[in-house]
Amino acid sequence: PAPTADEVLAALDPEQREAATSLSGPLCILAGAGTGKTRAITHRIAYAVLSGHWQPQTVLAVTFTTRAAGEMRGRLRELGVAGVQARTFHSAALRQARYFWPQVYGGELPPIVDSKLRFVAEAASRCRVQADLAGRRDLASEIEWAKVSNVRPDDYPRVAAKAGRQVAGYDAATVSHVFAAYEEVRRDRGHLDLEDVLLCTAALLADSPKVAAAVRSQYRHFVVDEYQDVSPVQQTLLDLWVGDRSDVCVVGDASQTIYSFAGASPAYLLDFTKRHRGATVVRLERDYRSTPQVVRVANGLLAGARGPASRHRLTLRAQRPDGPEPTFTEYADEVEEAEDVARAIQRLARQGTPLREIAVLFRVNAQSEAFEQALAERGVRYLVRGGERFFDRPEVREAIVLLRGAVRAAEMSGAGLVTDVHAVLAATGWTQEAPTGSGAVRERWESLTALASLAGDLAEEHPDADLAAFLAVVDERVAAQHAPAADGVTLATLHAAKGLEWDAVFLAGVHEGTVPITYAETEEQVEEERRLLYVGVTRAREHLAVSWSRSRTPGGRGRRGPSRFLASVRPKGSAAADATEGRGGGERSGRRTTTRSVARCRTCGQPLHDAAERKVGRCADCPATYDESMFERLRTWRTEQAQEQRVPAYCV
Ligand code: ATP
Ligand code: MG
Repeated sequence: PAPTADEVLAALDPEQREAATSLSGPLCILAGAGTGKTRAITHRIAYAVLSGHWQPQTVLAVTFTTRAAGEMRGRLRELGVAGVQARTFHSAALRQARYFWPQVYGGELPPIVDSKLRFVAEAASRCRVQADLAGRRDLASEIEWAKVSNVRPDDYPRVAAKAGRQVAGYDAATVSHVFAAYEEVRRDRGHLDLEDVLLCTAALLADSPKVAAAVRSQYRHFVVDEYQDVSPVQQTLLDLWVGDRSDVCVVGDASQTIYSFAGASPAYLLDFTKRHRGATVVRLERDYRSTPQVVRVANGLLAGARGPASRHRLTLRAQRPDGPEPTFTEYADEVEEAEDVARAIQRLARQGTPLREIAVLFRVNAQSEAFEQALAERGVRYLVRGGERFFDRPEVREAIVLLRGAVRAAEMSGAGLVTDVHAVLAATGWTQEAPTGSGAVRERWESLTALASLAGDLAEEHPDADLAAFLAVVDERVAAQHAPAADGVTLATLHAAKGLEWDAVFLAGVHEGTVPITYAETEEQVEEERRLLYVGVTRAREHLAVSWSRSRTPGGRGRRGPSRFLASVRPKGSAAADATEGRGGGERSGRRTTTRSVARCRTCGQPLHDAAERKVGRCADCPATYDESMFERLRTWRTEQAQEQRVPAYCV
């Protein structure tokens, strides 16, 4: 049976209840991750409806992803509330635009572009600007940013300079031309893009008093979840919806702003009380998601935060019982790191943690390669969330086809493998130097550099290896890959992990140069990197393992120490090592960072995890019948298989 209004309130803590019962006037809920923000606002809506204060159809609850909107609808359904509109900004705007467009402008709302990249390609060619797939993606993202930030093409260079925007390979004047041409192409074709949907709906409301009156008489109560992600155009739309009334409730965590490069602006959350005098402000500090041990790490990261988001400094108070201590481990290289993580995952799985409750999170997509390999080798199911598996990425496939062609044509000189691979990659436009800025061009470079690093590894192990041998290794890896498994371990970037939670989280590759990433230059950009790490840490319910490696990272950036952000959260007193050496920049706290040196299993050579294992010098789950020759045979067999297949699936 559906709960009563009183039962809905009884399921909240005192602060959440205060939020849920503040039913008129502006309300701002400021709280950290896992404190029950989404719970507080869904219960608030349910309480208001069940107690008869609000009609459900007068409530508009908005958020930013279809997943979040769906989740909110689900939670409301469970509370026995039907008829509330819980939508993304886009879907709410699209509904209104479809409905009112014919009344105001006549005819149907123009179609929405299904492939923006095609229009960007046409715009680039009209401007005689070269743009490959990655370049088109970056241009499209930048145009999106400009549109959600209310920036027009002719104003772009000025605003972009002020905001420190950089698109790899294009100066601001070029971006501005392509942007203008894109709008022309779009208009010529009679299409709208998703940003236009927001802009047009705002224009309909602003220009037509009849539309504004109709929308405002329909919706009287507004709720926005994840409000730190609101963009200027979305804020304009919200203002138009609310009009001169004040029943608007916003919920957010400025420390989770990780999309400011895409136009999200926490300033609206932070300045809410300035815009709405007399607003009720509720802070939630009890963390219901994570153990006290995980919460301590999250608080440590928040304590060091600077910039606007730290103005409303929040501290989380854990509500759950104790769990295992988070671990902080340094490895010699990322292969060792990935193998150890994979083994720890197997161990957790054996102890009963389902694979779908485990995630490996990293900063850039290219970092997934080592973990895919380590998991695949052990037959552990995984899926790469929000991205393709390493060897499925278009740039990697393209490079492999070229490498294969080079072998067939016997084009290469044959003596340094690395030189040969670099020469072939150079033909795709790859350079050893990283391109400036973030985005698709950078991601492509990271992937190709990871491929070059694989060749480097092989050359180090087998100085005689040639290109054909390298391709055999690649084939072996591809053969070991398996179909994405929805119930497997999640591999995801920190960005793709936002809003999700797992029992066990491995935060991998947390070194300087990666977190913060090299292109984070300004203090604001560096702070966004800290927030990314905070988002990662707060995804863990129980197990948290943070790791980094000393040498090669994707991008071959060489020797790096642990991320500067870890200095304040790692436990003191673990065995000292030389991790501070070679650090680029970093927090100059003067404190020597410490690290655990890795003791290895006498039988299989894998790193050992706990004191019990170290005492016996052997890992608890070491296969008793471990036999190196078995693995050797397996490798040979895989290479033969790959050679027999001749044309692997990814080349077709
Ligand atoms: P995020 O910042 O990641 O969006 P959030 O603040 O929105 O997190 P919720 O998703 O609402 O947090 O809640 C996190 C978890 O804690 C959920 O499983 C939720 O059911 C639980 N929770 C929240 N409040 C309470 C409470 N008062 N009693 C018991 N469990 C709670
Ligand atoms: Mg939430």
